[in-house]
Amino acid sequence: MTKPADPKRRARWLLIVFVGVLIAVITVAWMSISSGRVVSQQAETLAKERIPELREIGALQAAMSARVKQLYLSYSTGERLVWQEKYKEHAERVHAHVDALSQLSLSEMKRLQFLGMVQAFDLHAHRFDQEMAKGEGRSWDTLREHLASAQSVIDEMAVMLTMWSDELSVAAQKDGETALIGVARLTDLQLGFSVSVLLVSAFVLIALYARLKDQDELYRRAYFDGVTGLPNRWLLEEELRNKLEQKNAGFLQILRIDRLKIVASTYGHETADQLIKSTANWLQAHLDSQGVRCGLYRLNSDSLAIISKRNAGQVEAEYLALDLASISEQSLSLGERDLRIALDIGISLFPGDGGNVSCLVRNADAALNAKSSGAHYRFFDKRMTDESTNWLVTEGLLRVALEKAEFELHYQPKQAADGKRTQGSEALIRWRQEGKLVSPAAFIPVAEDSGLIVPIGTWVLNEACRQWRAWADAGLPPLPIAVNISAQQFQDEAFPSLVAATLQNHAIPQGMIELEITEAVAADHPERVIATMQELKKTGVSLAIDDFGTGYSSLSYLKRFPIDTLKIDQAFIRTMGSSTEDAAIVNLILSLAKALSLKVVAEGVEIPEQQAQLAALDCDLLQGYLFSKPIPASDFAGWLQSSQTFTT
Ligand code: C2E
Ligand code: MG
Ligand code: MG
Repeated sequence: MTKPADPKRRARWLLIVFVGVLIAVITVAWMSISSGRVVSQQAETLAKERIPELREIGALQAAMSARVKQLYLSYSTGERLVWQEKYKEHAERVHAHVDALSQLSLSEMKRLQFLGMVQAFDLHAHRFDQEMAKGEGRSWDTLREHLASAQSVIDEMAVMLTMWSDELSVAAQKDGETALIGVARLTDLQLGFSVSVLLVSAFVLIALYARLKDQDELYRRAYFDGVTGLPNRWLLEEELRNKLEQKNAGFLQILRIDRLKIVASTYGHETADQLIKSTANWLQAHLDSQGVRCGLYRLNSDSLAIISKRNAGQVEAEYLALDLASISEQSLSLGERDLRIALDIGISLFPGDGGNVSCLVRNADAALNAKSSGAHYRFFDKRMTDESTNWLVTEGLLRVALEKAEFELHYQPKQAADGKRTQGSEALIRWRQEGKLVSPAAFIPVAEDSGLIVPIGTWVLNEACRQWRAWADAGLPPLPIAVNISAQQFQDEAFPSLVAATLQNHAIPQGMIELEITEAVAADHPERVIATMQELKKTGVSLAIDDFGTGYSSLSYLKRFPIDTLKIDQAFIRTMGSSTEDAAIVNLILSLAKALSLKVVAEGVEIPEQQAQLAALDCDLLQGYLFSKPIPASDFAGWLQSSQTFTT
């Protein structure tokens, strides 16, 4: 089985990774923001300073060249006006460009230098113009001198402007390159950022998915049974509540798997779980194949429940309960062994048997636990709740009875077939409650149900041994005492050693204590029963199968049981006079016992005819009211003497 992931550990890991990725995202985001800022600063410098400066420098150069060109034009044409018209316009433009440059990054010193040059040019141009204005008297030599001076100013200015523009170009190129690198870096960072965001999203998605899965798992665990996969008690209650609210009519059946506790204590809880699972599968498949519209639920450890989905009443509930009995004809395979099971069913009808959920469940439970009828299903009846309350009260009283030693053993003699010789006795428990004797039929089922049968059984065994020793020490003939053993005692691994220790404590000789095990217990898993019986035999007890004929023990196993005695169930003895079939069964059991060299005890012998019939069939021992009821230990010795029996 794979270990389920620890959600806390997983959450912690997810958180660590998530925080890591988040830090990476924040770092990348911060880096790209600062890188973006640098790039935008450089772009701004380029756009707002370098490029306008270069443009203005270019424009200034052009304007100055235009002016010198005009001087040459005027010189070559001799037309003063041609030059004068445009002179003003170009002069203004030059001044505007110098102003614009000084607004950008032109230093004051450079501005003054430029202004000085422009003024020098203006002066030479002005002188040139004045010379031109002389008309015919102009001196071409003087004009050429002014032209050359103006040209040298322009040249000097051109050199300065070119140097400056070169400087600016280099700086702009550098800025551009840095900006390009910055943009490339920014692109990388953007890529990193996108990947990081993608990762964060993926982690958030994974975390969300894990959480949803956890919630799904929680829901499944809360509302579905892990073994059968069926909806559990909560969903059953919800469904019932809905049905009651919608004023639907229907039924609730609680199905208890017979002998599940014995399976659990014999083969362990895993096998018991498998049995529940197989039963649930069979039921579901059966309901589906029959087209019965019912919901199946796991109610608790040994019970399942069915709720009708459609409106239904007693007839439908009874029909279904009868149908489900067919499960006992199936053998459910559990690994290497096959088991047959039976279902006990308690039914409550709604809304009649309860106006709320807990009442309906309690009443179906009461019907299930009602011990009255022999049928495998029972409908709830108002009287049952009193019965189940009594059951609980009895359990509480039994615990007190154990502490207060309110139990006692009565002994019923076993006679030889002639009825005269007492050859043993059976110890039968009684509960003295407020002066009255309570019979085992009234409390043994409660003791078995609550597990109290184990300490009670231990007390019985010890008390029977103590009594045997007391009688032997008092000089009574050594008669074997039979002690009844319940299924839970027999299946307890420590039982053989408990028997050995008890027998040793009271120094009981071989064969003086006989353990009676009911046929139903012996029929369950014979191989295991044989092993336990063999261990018990080693302690010196003899073994008897009680109530023989009522169970289903396989005859082939009977041969392998290391037993000494078969006790024919009193039901056969009671009717053997009237029923030829029962007489035939008794006959058969006796011949079988003979063939297997077993002693036979007939229980419930009440009338002389039964004794005669059994004696004729060569039955070894007889037990019944015909000879004596079970009597207190204190009366037993007196009874032995007064009945003038003698023992062998
Ligand atoms: P069982 O072991 O089969 O005991 C025989 C029952 O038949 C006894 O009932 C006995 O009183 C009754 N009986 C004997 N002769 C006659 C007769 O001629 N006619 C009729 N009608 N009944 C007769 P009891 O004492 O009420 O015990 C009932 C059952 O309770 C026992 O059946 C046994 O299964 C169980 N039981 C009794 N004592 C113990 C005990 O100490 N431990 C366990 N685990 N079960 C016990
Ligand atoms: Mg018995
Ligand atoms: Mg019996």
